[in-house]
Amino acid sequence: MEVFDIHSKKGEKVFGHIDMLEYPHGTKERLPICLIEGLKEGPTFLLTGNIHGNELHGLVTLQEIIQEVDPTQVKGTLIIIPSLNPAGLLVMTRTPLYVSTDPNRLWPDPKPKKKPQLKYVDLYDENLDPEKHPNIQEKFYTKFAKIFDQVDYFIDLHCHAIRSLPYSYLDRVYYDEKNENQKEESQKLFDKTKKLVEAFGFTLVLEGPPKYYFKENLHRSTTGSFVNKYRKPGFTVELGASGYVETDIVASAKIGVWNVLKYTGMIEGDLVKITDFPVLDEKMWREILIRTSHSGFFIPLIKAGEIVDKGIPIFEVRDIFGRIKETIVAPDYGTVLGIWDDIRCYPNQEIAVFLIDNTIDLVLPWEYEKKEEKKEEKKE
Ligand SMILES: [Zn+2]
Repeated sequence: MEVFDIHSKKGEKVFGHIDMLEYPHGTKERLPICLIEGLKEGPTFLLTGNIHGNELHGLVTLQEIIQEVDPTQVKGTLIIIPSLNPAGLLVMTRTPLYVSTDPNRLWPDPKPKKKPQLKYVDLYDENLDPEKHPNIQEKFYTKFAKIFDQVDYFIDLHCHAIRSLPYSYLDRVYYDEKNENQKEESQKLFDKTKKLVEAFGFTLVLEGPPKYYFKENLHRSTTGSFVNKYRKPGFTVELGASGYVETDIVASAKIGVWNVLKYTGMIEGDLVKITDFPVLDEKMWREILIRTSHSGFFIPLIKAGEIVDKGIPIFEVRDIFGRIKETIVAPDYGTVLGIWDDIRCYPNQEIAVFLIDNTIDLVLPWEYEKKEEKKEEKKE
């Protein structure tokens, strides 16, 4: 296999770097890449980490996978990129040092575009349109995404929050209503991806509902783009805190990666259960936010992953003397997924993510947003 100018070799690990961009002072930013081609034919699996430069668990997990995998025992090819954002890694920030946009919202856009019908055409329309001038990072990721054509499966490793339960994000699959077969294909793709997430072994969490998903540009995340544009199974894994590494999280993430490699037939062996963290597999979960109503200090009353009934106190907000100003209760049956790394709060501030049972369709038409808007217009 050839990835840009790097060639894999049967039964070997090949290490290299791909040019990303040139810095103003003339040196180049380069993306580290490892190709591991087995002796036998099989699928191609892309594993990436550290697209947010301060998220380190994926980086370390992939380093250890690279070291431990025996290429002679692999069927197919592994493409492993320990850091999709080397410039963010060096300065330990979410974004790289040369642009301020979230690198996980710049991947090829799967959403069909409808052009607005404007009567006035200006000579400088293109000059003024930022979409016609993507930044250097988007340009590189667009170029890099060409390898998605060669890839069968994709996992991107991230970090969430210091007190969060490790989990996997599964994207809903969107389809074109005018294309008759696409709904059925989308359901098949969703089911296939869900099985891969289940093989990995962490708690499954669905990406947000359409309005939030598109507003946050999550369809242009690494795996959002892979699933919804390239129509292949991929998902994102969230591994605890950023900024440092916990060995039990890395160990569990490695079990997950080995599990999917076994599940896809790329290596031999039985799947192993993850036991270091709760795996909440009774439901498909979705996230909602917990917000405070007062200024003060928020203190969790339950641990991430601890299931509670609706109405059970999950946080209290205290004043500077420790007097309780507010008790926040569980909005539904579910659990806290992650708690932000702070205790200070103000009214309307997000302090945590809470998991509830998913009731939203798993495959949806692209036009969903438009229909919702029309419904709202009718109400007015
Ligand atoms: Zn991330």
